[in-house]
Amino acid sequence: MDAFLLMEPLDLARWRAEALARGRVVAADLESTDEDRMAAGALEDRAQADLAAYQMSFFVTDVLVAWLLVSPLDSAEQDRATKAMGRLVEYASSPRYRDVQALGDALTDALRPVYESPDILVRFSHAGGLPALFNDWATSVAKDGYCKSAVRSLPVNAWEHQTPESLLGVMKGLVDKISDAGEEVVATKLFTGVIYRIYSRYGLEPFERASTISDSCILFYFLHRRISRKPAAYRSHDAIRVLLKKYTNIPEAIRRRHGWGILTVSGRWDCLEYYGCVFANCPERTELLELKVRRQRGVCNPDAEARLYRWGDETRMCSTCKTVSYCSAACQKADRIFHKSQCKAKDDMETDV
Ligand SMILES: [Zn+2]
Ligand SMILES: [Zn+2]
Repeated sequence: MDAFLLMEPLDLARWRAEALARGRVVAADLESTDEDRMAAGALEDRAQADLAAYQMSFFVTDVLVAWLLVSPLDSAEQDRATKAMGRLVEYASSPRYRDVQALGDALTDALRPVYESPDILVRFSHAGGLPALFNDWATSVAKDGYCKSAVRSLPVNAWEHQTPESLLGVMKGLVDKISDAGEEVVATKLFTGVIYRIYSRYGLEPFERASTISDSCILFYFLHRRISRKPAAYRSHDAIRVLLKKYTNIPEAIRRRHGWGILTVSGRWDCLEYYGCVFANCPERTELLELKVRRQRGVCNPDAEARLYRWGDETRMCSTCKTVSYCSAACQKADRIFHKSQCKAKDDMETDV
C-alpha cells in the first residue's frame, strides 16, 4: 500500500485531466465551433460528476495525512512521512484536483488536521504547501472556518524556505481572496499581517513579480511602487497597515488606468470598449476601433499602438467622483448630461499612486 500511494503516479481525476486539456485546445483555437465548445462542456460536466475520483481523493489524502500525524518510529517511517508530505502538497496544489469544486472541497476537508496542527502546518509550508492554504482561505467551503484560523495562527517560521514560485502562489491566493471578499479585506489585521510577513522576510521582489498577476487587482503593483519609493518607512507592521488602508481608497479611475498599463498590446486592442475614455461616442475610440479592424486584416502600424496606449493612459478623471475618466475635455463635456446623475463626491481618496 505504501508503494501504491507514494510511488505510483496516481490517476485520481482522469476525466478532469481530459476536460482541462480539451478546454485549453478549444479556447486556443480561433476557429472552434459551438459544437466543439459543447463537447468540451460535456466533458467538463462529466469531470464534475466523477464521484469515484471524489471518493478516492478522500481516501488517499486521509491516509497521507494519517502518516504525517503518527510520530515515526524508525527511519523507514520517517522516509514515508517525508514522501507523504510531498504527495500531499502535490495534490493540494494541483489545479487538476483543486479546480473541481467537489474534489477541491474533499481535499480541503482531508487537510483539516494539517491546518489545525501548527507543527505539521510548518512542515507542510516548508514543503511548498502555503499556496494551497491561501487558496483554501480564499475560495474553499471552510474559508471562514478552520482555513482562516490556520492563516491566523500560522507560525512565523512557516514563512521560512519559501521559493519565488510558492510566494507567487500565495499572492495568487490573496488576489482570489480580494475578488471573493472585496477590497475591504486588504485592510484587515489578518491580511496586513500576511503582507508584512512576506515583505519583512523577502523584501520587495515578490511584490514586483506579482505585479502582473491580475489586471483587475493592482495591489502588488501598488505595494511595489509605494514601498520602493521609501523603503525605510515601511519596516513596521503598522506602517504596512496604514499603506494597505490607503490602497482601499484608490479611486476607480486610477485602478482602471493601472489596469490599462499592465495589459499586453493585444489585450489593449481587445479591451478597447472597457477601458479608457468613458464617453460612449468618444471620437478617438471610434478611430482606434477602425485601426483595430485594419490590424486584424494584417495592416501593421506601430504608431497606432502608441496612440492606443496614450488614449487609455493620459486620461483626466472626474474630479468630483473620481470613478470615471475621459481622454479629453471635449469628451468630458459631452458626457456631462449622462454622467451627472451618477456623480457623487467621495472623501479622502488616495490619488497619488
Ligand atoms: Zn474620449
Ligand atoms: Zn463624476
